[in-house]
Order: sequence, then structure tokens, then C-alpha cells
Amino acid sequence: MEDKNIRAMGGGLYQFTVKTTEHAQLVDITDEVQEIVRSSGVTHGVCVVFVPHTTAAVTINENADPDVKADLLRELDRVVPWEDGYRHAEGNSAAHLKASMLGASETVVIYAGRLALGTWQGVYLAEFDGSRKRTVYVKLLAG
Ligand code: ZN
Repeated sequence: MEDKNIRAMGGGLYQFTVKTTEHAQLVDITDEVQEIVRSSGVTHGVCVVFVPHTTAAVTINENADPDVKADLLRELDRVVPWEDGYRHAEGNSAAHLKASMLGASETVVIYAGRLALGTWQGVYLAEFDGSRKRTVYVKLLAG
């Protein structure tokens, strides 16, 4: 647990950073988000997990069998190959496209002081142009 990496920004906003190690990678950030919810004292509401990046995304998927992560990354590569005659001169259009396909945020319901995730659900930072240092924002809305 990287508690000291979590910064309270005020107004129910929190931030932490993730150092990705692979070019494409799904990093499980469920524990960090759950810890933010737990320590906030919010018992009921919603939690928005957002990344301010154009080549990374947030997604929710299975946290039990790691082959699911591998299959997701492989199929995204198949649908959006790294080289495909893209115009974007930086050369990382595939990463931009995958980031838009998965999206920059996810919303999770908070119930009884915890993320109301299903048994097999985890929250993932999806890296598509690593390795890089990524920022994750978590906004909690009580109610
Ligand atoms: Zn680019």
C-alpha cells in the first residue's frame, strides 16, 4: 500500500501517481482508490477515477485471472495496430486511439464506506505508451 503517495487536494479530490513499467500495461489501482474512500469517511456516494492523460485510460475489469488483462491488451493491439498509416507525427496514434476507446474515467458507487465493486472487478490504469509516470485523480461525492 502506497499511502504516502496519496495526496488530499481538498474538496473531496485526491491524487496519486503510478509509475508504469511496460509499453502497454494494466495496473491494478483498486487498493489505492479503496484506501482513499475508506480514509475519507464517505459512507455513501460516488467515486470518480480520472486520468489527465491522452495515452492512458481507466477501466474496470476482472482482477482474478491475469490472462484477462493479457487478452484485453492483445485484442486492442489487434484492432488498433501500432503502425497503420496514421497521420499523427508523434508516432503514438495507437495509444491515443486506445485511450479514447477505454476512456479517461470510471465512476464507482460507494456503499457502506467502500467501493461497491463486484467480486471480480478491479479498477485499472491502462497504460498505452509507457513507461511513464501517470497521475490519477479520485473525486468523491457524498450523498
Ligand atoms: Zn501523440
